Amino acid sequence: MNALAATRDAGDPAVREALAGPRLHIDLGAVAANTRLLAGRAAALMAVVKADGFGHGAADVARTALAHGAVALGVATLAEGTALRAHGIAAPVLSWLNPVDADFDTALRARIELAVPGPAHLEAVVRAAASTGRRARVHLQVDTGMSRDGSDPAGWPELCRRARQAELIGLVQVVGVMSHLGCADTPGDPCTDAALEDFRAALGTVRAAGLRPRHRHLAATSATLTDPRTRFDLSRVGAGLVGIDPTGSTPLRPALTLTAPVVTVRTVPAGARVGYGHLGTTARRTHLALLPVGYADGLPRAASGRAEVLLRGRRCPVVGRISMDQLVVDTGDRPAEHGDTAVLFGPGGRGEPTVADWARWSGTIEHEVMTGLGSRLRRTVGRTAVPA
Ligand SMILES: *Cc1c(COP(=O)(O)O)cnc(C)c1O
Repeated sequence: MNALAATRDAGDPAVREALAGPRLHIDLGAVAANTRLLAGRAAALMAVVKADGFGHGAADVARTALAHGAVALGVATLAEGTALRAHGIAAPVLSWLNPVDADFDTALRARIELAVPGPAHLEAVVRAAASTGRRARVHLQVDTGMSRDGSDPAGWPELCRRARQAELIGLVQVVGVMSHLGCADTPGDPCTDAALEDFRAALGTVRAAGLRPRHRHLAATSATLTDPRTRFDLSRVGAGLVGIDPTGSTPLRPALTLTAPVVTVRTVPAGARVGYGHLGTTARRTHLALLPVGYADGLPRAASGRAEVLLRGRRCPVVGRISMDQLVVDTGDRPAEHGDTAVLFGPGGRGEPTVADWARWSGTIEHEVMTGLGSRLRRTVGRTAVPA
């Protein structure tokens, strides 16, 4: 192995950056721009910041979205909701995925609104309202074809009837009715037509039970961008805020840039084996550079053999298997130098790969790559994409 020659001054900013190690930079300017675009397509916008804001930092994404057009926040779990409150965020928060024995007392004390997918949840929320003396604000949740979260259609009239009873005794207020679309990523899929029909029927049942919820909400990112019929009173948008458009219809701005310094370089002959299982073999004499990021940091191991990084202005292939903490790139006829920093992914405007590329290379979606980014990464937050 060739030790990296210290050819650059240690005071050089590029060298200082390299010494600080891998960095995940979050561009809240992109989140702001995406929020404004999506708010323009929605009747009202709920910013979904589950899974730590899709890996971008829930509190940062929440504050940015609220400042640029979102009126409420959505999370899966109660713990995600109370964490927002602990950050001093006072906006309405809805949590929609909790076991029936979740701590709904704490939820009500924290003014967190709750999705109610069935009578057992309704009963638990009513009990919490009685014990805390706080009226629960609930969103009745109906399944419209995913067989996932939400009441099945058969139980819906009974759930509505019981919710109305709980309203009449003052323990709950039904402020919303919600469902979720399973096929909205494919605009024009008849599955969405069927879900819309089911949702409208469910709303009819709600009215017939005497309920008058203010927020009827069905659309997430894809439907908000492509199907105005699904927008109703509110859109619950997560992916779009962080630059993911599953429909490929709308240019949104990615907010993440992952960089890593070169740790060591070496010159190898043709036929050199690289990494675990010797998956990689060099085709000719070449230069390799070692980067201190791997699958523990969220770079999918399944991208081994396909992935590339940007280094010294050029795309360089990742050679061999991506390891837990490190990966090797082929820099071709030129060796990397001390102080060089590789761009693993970024917005894509300077020739670097994007999260979408990593998703494609590993057979998954951007959501999974973003939410899998590791806690070991040094994170910086700004209002612009960092220059590499
Ligand atoms: C995650 C989620 C959303 C947000 O979906 P995106 O496609 O990320 O905008 C909305 N509603 C529910 C119920 C969800 O689980």
